[in-house]
Amino acid sequence: MESLSMWEATANKRKEREQLQGEEQCDVVIIGGGYSGLSSAYHLQKKNVNTIILEKWRVGSGASGRNGGEVLTGYIGSMEAWEKKKGLEAAKKMWQLSLDSIDLIQNIIKEHSIDCAFKRNGDFFAAYKPAHMDALKRDQEYMARVMNYHDIKVVEKKDLHSEMNTDFYHGGRIDAGSAHFHPLNYAIGLAEAAEGLGAKIYEQSEALKVERDARNKVIVTTPNGRVIADQLVIVTNGYAGDINQTIKRSVIPIESIMIATEPLPEELVEDIIKKDRAIHDTKRLLYYFRRTADNRLAFGGSGRASSKRDQRNLFDHLHAGMLNVFPQLKDTRIEYRWGGKVGFTKDMIPYIGQLEDGTHYAFGYCGHGAAMSSLFGKMIADNITNEEVEDNPLIVNQLKPIPFHSQHAKAVGILKFYKKLQDAIS
Ligand SMILES: Cc1cc2nc3c(=O)[nH]c(=O)nc-3n(C[C@H](O)[C@H](O)[C@H](O)COP(=O)(O)OP(=O)(O)OC[C@H]3O[C@@H](n4cnc5c(N)ncnc54)[C@H](O)[C@@H]3O)c2cc1C
Repeated sequence: MESLSMWEATANKRKEREQLQGEEQCDVVIIGGGYSGLSSAYHLQKKNVNTIILEKWRVGSGASGRNGGEVLTGYIGSMEAWEKKKGLEAAKKMWQLSLDSIDLIQNIIKEHSIDCAFKRNGDFFAAYKPAHMDALKRDQEYMARVMNYHDIKVVEKKDLHSEMNTDFYHGGRIDAGSAHFHPLNYAIGLAEAAEGLGAKIYEQSEALKVERDARNKVIVTTPNGRVIADQLVIVTNGYAGDINQTIKRSVIPIESIMIATEPLPEELVEDIIKKDRAIHDTKRLLYYFRRTADNRLAFGGSGRASSKRDQRNLFDHLHAGMLNVFPQLKDTRIEYRWGGKVGFTKDMIPYIGQLEDGTHYAFGYCGHGAAMSSLFGKMIADNITNEEVEDNPLIVNQLKPIPFHSQHAKAVGILKFYKKLQDAIS
């Protein structure tokens, strides 16, 4: 699953960063070099807070460089469902945060001229079953009436071909607020922007141990060095290891896989996806797909395998799914296959907060982190500099770790989780 992604193969030129050697000091040490960590460093440096990022592999080697690049509004499930769970004010705030997250990315990209093919063309949420159209229509009405959001438009089955050349779906809805980008190039650009403001990033520098001394300074040990800091941020999301058990057991890593075709003739790619939107669907184990800047189709779905052979089957299965949606691609070559870990939480909503010892964390974007994680990085920076976002309904300061001790319990938990996910969507 960790094989070369199409994004890595088509990424902008980037520098190799050094491994941490010896001892360094800073204000805030950040463990994890994905969007959450990079954005935390970027926003802290803007406030003249000195940061060091420790990344186990390379910047964007986790989900941030491997995802579908679909920068989507909202969360899993409808805002109406979130209103029922959290109340109207919280739901309104959550919705605004999701819009803010995309504006933030757009502004960072503009300010730093990040070359990552960012396009705010909207997303298309495709109905897998006729009955799913009812939910999408209800959602459009609710969003206009309650959230005063008018950028959602329903597309009936008879008009589906104005969006995509397929009969696989039963219509869908457009949300003009969403976007897409080259996910790894955004991570690379964000890393350079943070470094430009003074952040230090060490790659191949896994945090192995975290301790606090008598003065409550944080000491993070890596294979060849250590960092001493006033504050600690852990943003390892689906790749959380053993450095903090509470965080590790509060995030549910779910494997997602992607394939990418060879570059397609322009007429073909413009015919299969007409308006260059980020597409995802209401299927139980969803598909998400889109065009890329070099005219490929990038197609993703969920994947979890217990053996290498299963992994091959999963990719074959995903390819068959792609051909169900677009049979006209039957002679098209698949050039890349890869996967990564998406961080979920048991509440299916991202968490941001602090552990009892003061450690800051953010994780569990539940497949919406391409948008949300940059904002969460900013909110971590605001929390550290005491500019806490008022009444933020996503702050969770008391994590309740899930007892995922055995592989069996984990597998059962994930299956139950998928069921819950389906219920939330449909
Ligand atoms: C295949 C796939 C498709 C996806 N598609 C989409 C999509 O289209 N839209 C969307 O919104 N979201 C999508 N996601 C999810 C999205 O990518 C994530 O929500 C987002 O990237 C989270 O960023 P992050 O920085 O929190 O975590 P990550 O990017 O996973 O970063 C965590 C980092 O921590 C590092 N790390 C872990 N342990 C240590 C340690 N001990 N020391 C140092 N470093 C460590 C890891 O190496 C990793 O780089 C997808 C994810 C995957 C895998």
